Amino acid sequence: MATQEAAPQGGVSFDTDEETRLILQSLDDFVDQEVQPIEDDLGDTYTNKRKRHEDDGRYVPEVREAIQEVRRRSAEAGFYAMNLSEEDGGEGVSNVTWYRAIKHVATNGPGLTEHVLAGPEGPKPLLAQAEGDQREEYLYPVVRGQQSTGFGQTEPGVGSDSPNMSTTAEKDGDEWVLNGTKQWITNAPYADFLQIFARTSPQEEMGRYGGISCFIVEADEYEIGSMNNAVGFEGSQAEVHLDDVRVPEDRLLGTEDGAFYDAMEFLSLGRLEIGARAMGHAEFLLDRAAQYANDREAFGRPIGKFQGVSHKIAEGKAKQYAANAAGLRLAWEMDQGEQAIMESSIVKYLCTNTLWEIADDTVQVHGGNGLSEDNPYMADLEMARVLRIVEGTDEIQLNTIAKQLGVF
Ligand SMILES: Cc1cc2nc3c(=O)[nH]c(=O)nc-3n(C[C@H](O)[C@H](O)[C@H](O)COP(=O)(O)OP(=O)(O)OC[C@H]3O[C@@H](n4cnc5c(N)ncnc54)[C@H](O)[C@@H]3O)c2cc1C
Repeated sequence: MATQEAAPQGGVSFDTDEETRLILQSLDDFVDQEVQPIEDDLGDTYTNKRKRHEDDGRYVPEVREAIQEVRRRSAEAGFYAMNLSEEDGGEGVSNVTWYRAIKHVATNGPGLTEHVLAGPEGPKPLLAQAEGDQREEYLYPVVRGQQSTGFGQTEPGVGSDSPNMSTTAEKDGDEWVLNGTKQWITNAPYADFLQIFARTSPQEEMGRYGGISCFIVEADEYEIGSMNNAVGFEGSQAEVHLDDVRVPEDRLLGTEDGAFYDAMEFLSLGRLEIGARAMGHAEFLLDRAAQYANDREAFGRPIGKFQGVSHKIAEGKAKQYAANAAGLRLAWEMDQGEQAIMESSIVKYLCTNTLWEIADDTVQVHGGNGLSEDNPYMADLEMARVLRIVEGTDEIQLNTIAKQLGVF
């Protein structure tokens, strides 16, 4: 179990402890030896958007299998869900180590490495609340990378305002009957089961965040509607229709009527993970931009000799340095047991906006080549744009910060 080295008296340590260093090195070896060959075998079926997807946006079968294989191998090697406790099947690494690992892997840029560490399809603390048979049936197969899941909260009518959801679950004998439509659900087209949020008691009785419960719903119990192909994330999200879906009562995950409160406890982790990913990706882009600025010549000199170019890269680095320090600090605060509500909003907002600005400047530094579909930079820009919407939009993060400051 990797924990951070003790801070020097009166201070915070930014050192990477020996165990975390070894994890990062092993991740590099894993990427070289286990992920790269799969990516090489796929060739341009993965890198070429036109070959990667079916007509409706779904991944073609080879890509689906490759992604699942990366997860399985990563789980076998002990990386995939290493932040979960040992009891939940993970390695119990600290949030600081998890942050560093996500960021480190993201420095590889776009590709199959994005699936090495558990994302929304993987085991999250919400699923780790599984009890009794739920653990063998649902939690551990996902931890082992053998199955995948997803989290269904957003609906056509509500996103940011999700407590106002319309999906309901009503008790009928020893079953729950679910009705409603979810939208933008990551991994829904491929998941073995979803964790669906539904209203189980009226809001008027239970308060704004009360009266919502979470249910495990298996893939053959719901219907996938249209794909929701967000530019930059095509193939991952879809609508989910729940039409009188009956599930046994033991599919309730966590507390009846308390799912929103359960989920709120884990909000900070999701924001930390997005921040880490954004910071690693930003580093990848800064490296590429710096390299190009040195190699590409215009007006008889490398373009990096022009301040208009070098300052873009320098400014990006300054912002990335600051945002990354904020991310690490948040991880450390969470390791001290703090909920860090305001801080996690700050990190999500700062890191994703920093990535967005760096991605935009990376396209600019590359000129026409930045726009070419042979390069990843426009796709990176699209992905960076999406990260400012998911897991709470910019505005919702700013609302949270303002609320914590008592000015909302
Ligand atoms: C790629 C992708 C993956 C996703 N994955 C999932 C998933 O796995 N599971 C899931 O449940 N959902 C998922 N979502 C949905 C995502 O969480 C929502 O899109 C997001 O929460 C915003 O909701 P919305 O799209 O309904 O926008 P809205 O809530 O309608 O917001 C529209 C605009 O109004 C602003 N706004 C709304 N309320 C306020 C306010 N109070 N103050 C200021 N501004 C406000 C927003 O910031 C935004 O700019 C995903 C979305 C995408 C694009």
